[in-house]
Amino acid sequence: MNCLFCRIIAGEIPSAKVYEDEYVLAFRDIDPQAPVHVLVIPKKHADSVLDAEPEMLVRMTEAAKKIASDEGLAEKGFRLVINTGEEGGQSVKHLHMHLLGGRSMQWPPG
Ligand code: 5GP
Ligand code: ZN
Repeated sequence: MNCLFCRIIAGEIPSAKVYEDEYVLAFRDIDPQAPVHVLVIPKKHADSVLDAEPEMLVRMTEAAKKIASDEGLAEKGFRLVINTGEEGGQSVKHLHMHLLGGRSMQWPPG
């Protein structure tokens, strides 16, 4: 298996897990861009949002909402991001949603 995030799901590579259920795993980003930076991924591999099953997106979003609340971000807000493809800045080709919070976000992103 040569997918980094599939290897994290399999436990072959350690991660700081913050949430797990039947469909998704969430863990802290190794290079955090905000005080809270969590990656939410489907346990079933999809290369990107372009080949995601609709249920994956629902499960990922519902998990992100729960994690955001657990991390104390619900009141002040947070950002959910799915980078896709080369110009979208996707570096890992296993679908993932970034949950960023704990500081004020800029718009538009760089
Ligand atoms: P992308 O740039 O594809 O949207 O996001 C990939 C994210 O995965 C990056 O924010 C990067 O820091 C994170 N990342 C890359 N390798 C690892 C790893 O081995 N462990 C963890 N926890 N995060 C990783
Ligand atoms: Zn994968």
